[in-house]
Amino acid sequence: MLHKEASHTWECLLQVLQKKCSPVEFQNWISPIQLLDATDVEIIVKVPNVFVQEYLLTNYTKELALFLPLNNQGKPNIRFVIHEPKHKKTHDLLQEPLSSSSSQGDKNRLSFSLNQNYTFAQFIEGPSNQFVKSAALGVANRPGKSYNPLFIHGGVGLGKTHLLHSIGHYIQEHHKRIHIHCITTEQFINDLVNNLKNKSIEQWKTFYRRLDVLLLDDIPFLENRLNFEEEFCHTFETLIHQNKQIVITSDKPPNALKLSERLIGRMEWGLVAKISSPDLETKVAILQHKAEQRGFHLSQSVAFFIAENGFHNVRQLEGAINRLCAHCNLTSTEITRESATVILSELFYHIPKKQITIESILKSVAATFNVQIQDLKSTTRKKEVAFPRQIVMYLAKELLQDSFIKASHSLGKTRSTILHSWNKIKKQLDTNDILKQKIQLTKQNLDQEKTDI
Ligand code: ADP
Ligand code: MG
Repeated sequence: MLHKEASHTWECLLQVLQKKCSPVEFQNWISPIQLLDATDVEIIVKVPNVFVQEYLLTNYTKELALFLPLNNQGKPNIRFVIHEPKHKKTHDLLQEPLSSSSSQGDKNRLSFSLNQNYTFAQFIEGPSNQFVKSAALGVANRPGKSYNPLFIHGGVGLGKTHLLHSIGHYIQEHHKRIHIHCITTEQFINDLVNNLKNKSIEQWKTFYRRLDVLLLDDIPFLENRLNFEEEFCHTFETLIHQNKQIVITSDKPPNALKLSERLIGRMEWGLVAKISSPDLETKVAILQHKAEQRGFHLSQSVAFFIAENGFHNVRQLEGAINRLCAHCNLTSTEITRESATVILSELFYHIPKKQITIESILKSVAATFNVQIQDLKSTTRKKEVAFPRQIVMYLAKELLQDSFIKASHSLGKTRSTILHSWNKIKKQLDTNDILKQKIQLTKQNLDQEKTDI
């Protein structure tokens, strides 16, 4: 049986959501959700269809995270049981926004699935995502006329869906007459199944083929689903041949997908852009931005402290900041290094601890500056080696903390030589942007190469 405390927490969550959305939205999307069961680690809810589930997850993850148990990625642990009422089929839902919006003179705009927070303005840029963001902006500015298709890939939680929805928002705002549809591949397949069941496939095809922009999230969902792949391929080709814009996201590049060569080839036609893990500075900027959105000030030093603790994707960072803000909200306290240590220790614990060593610094500097490791360790004074060697010393002082003394032994340098190099490079960093970029790149390589403790 559902216990009282769980029902109460659920009621509190509903009250918060009611304040956040319009009465119509609440009526359509939130009130059909029914709490079925709850334990300390997860809750189970009944929803009438996958759209309601998607709506709740894409729009209110943060609120859910404040009230519900979290999994080890800091995301709300919520299980959905889909229970379709007999009188309403999923495909009707697909059609509904069509007819209701057409009466507002805004035909065929299926924007209900766009997350309001996923805009370009809310997207923090850094070296790991600058290129992808520019490509996304290019497509949003001139749909069908720049890169087509645009294929965005990268690991989980790095902002692929965020960018996809940003394109959607931007096009809606700047190109009023364009028919746009943003959908996950899972939804795409569900719709297809429902329309096949209901013998409304022609209507479905007409809908897709009249689109100007198709934004498709998580293409790997199509893997090993041959029939659906074929239907998708037809849709894809019809749109692309008419210069209609397609944007696809994936956690792997096209050639790593278990899809037909034909479809992979089609996806590689346009621009394939990779989004990588954010570097330390970008993580700090994201943490500060997310804290500010929640009404908290996060100092640089605490943000660095959190960012350095091994979070590899933005979703994990967001989970950490949600947890921290929720705690500080309830206890009316500021975010400090101490509170971050206590509240996030569990999350820090779940992330494999990594260690930087002098060897990994040498390897990374050698790769970035195109020199040999043994030259870096030698005493040669050649300029092309001496300068990278100073960078090794700078990074050793910056990153090795306690083992810095040990590192100075293995480099055959005294502590004061290392401090001298550190000072020199630090001063140059104030004025030399190229050097700054190179050091950032070295640190990025280090992040990927750190050895497990
Ligand atoms: P993916 O689709 O790559 O798994 P998401 O787009 O769902 O990742 O991003 C996960 C979370 O991190 C979202 O809440 C998103 O807003 C946030 N996020 C990701 N990248 C950034 C960024 N560069 N700036 C701000 N927020 C970001
Ligand atoms: Mg995604």
